[in-house]
Amino acid sequence: MPHTRTPAVAGWLDGEGEDFRLLGTRCSSCGSVFFPREDVHCRNPLCAGGALEEVPLSRKGHIWSYTDSHYRPPSPYVSNPELPWEPYALIAVELAAERIVVLGQAAPGVTVAGLAVGMEVEAVPGVLDEDAETARTIWHWRPTGVRA
Ligand SMILES: [Zn+2]
Repeated sequence: MPHTRTPAVAGWLDGEGEDFRLLGTRCSSCGSVFFPREDVHCRNPLCAGGALEEVPLSRKGHIWSYTDSHYRPPSPYVSNPELPWEPYALIAVELAAERIVVLGQAAPGVTVAGLAVGMEVEAVPGVLDEDAETARTIWHWRPTGVRA
């Protein structure tokens, strides 16, 4: 068991358990929310630009679309070529309050057979990779009816 857990991408996620959240940024001028976070310029073409402030995103959303990944993605995807490829489900989740869609892998054990458009899912912490010292964490989407 690694001693420390650290986000695979600094500033994209925070917290554990019930406090786990994806972090985005919100434009103080037009209210647009960005994930992955935008820290330089508001990307809304109709906005003159405002300060971009970090905001935790809604933990729950609804499935907008989903698919199966049956091949090993190229770098920079991290995977061990020595191990057999294990397919996983990829889910696009609409966060209504933020008016954005966030892609992510389904939690381990969740397959496309258990998913449907419109189903409620929540962001839960997952592990991208780990060594003896550190687990690098990411987010997974998990149907709210499923417990780990
Ligand atoms: Zn803006």
